[in-house]
Amino acid sequence: MAKRVSTRKIKKHRLYGYEEAGAALGITPHTVRSWRCSGLSVMAASTPHYILGAELIRYIEDKQAKRSVKMAIDQMYCFKCKEPHKPLWGMVDYIPLNDTRGRLTGLCEACEGGLQRFVGKGDLGKFDKIYEITIKGMS
Ligand SMILES: [Zn+2]
Repeated sequence: MAKRVSTRKIKKHRLYGYEEAGAALGITPHTVRSWRCSGLSVMAASTPHYILGAELIRYIEDKQAKRSVKMAIDQMYCFKCKEPHKPLWGMVDYIPLNDTRGRLTGLCEACEGGLQRFVGKGDLGKFDKIYEITIKGMS
């Protein structure tokens, strides 16, 4: 998981180039540039490109809020939706990883993509009340 960047050094009303933004955030300019693909607004009408400090802060805080999303007990992480969803029909498989931990897998009720959640074997009783769990053998 990528490290948490701090927006402490970013000034809202300043304009930043990729280099400056990267330096202020302690990351590479390449990373800042790559954020354009995931929603960072850049003033691309002129060269060099500038990013408003306030927009940088908005983007980073938005991203961090999404990452720290807490899953409800009846939700699992969907790789396709990239957010927690309930499993289709409440049916999941438990695949043991070792004697104490395993993962629950299922299908996303929103997109039917793969869902996953790591659980302790001791918590299975708790999930058993919500899902219909099929226990798989060690693979
Ligand atoms: Zn999904």
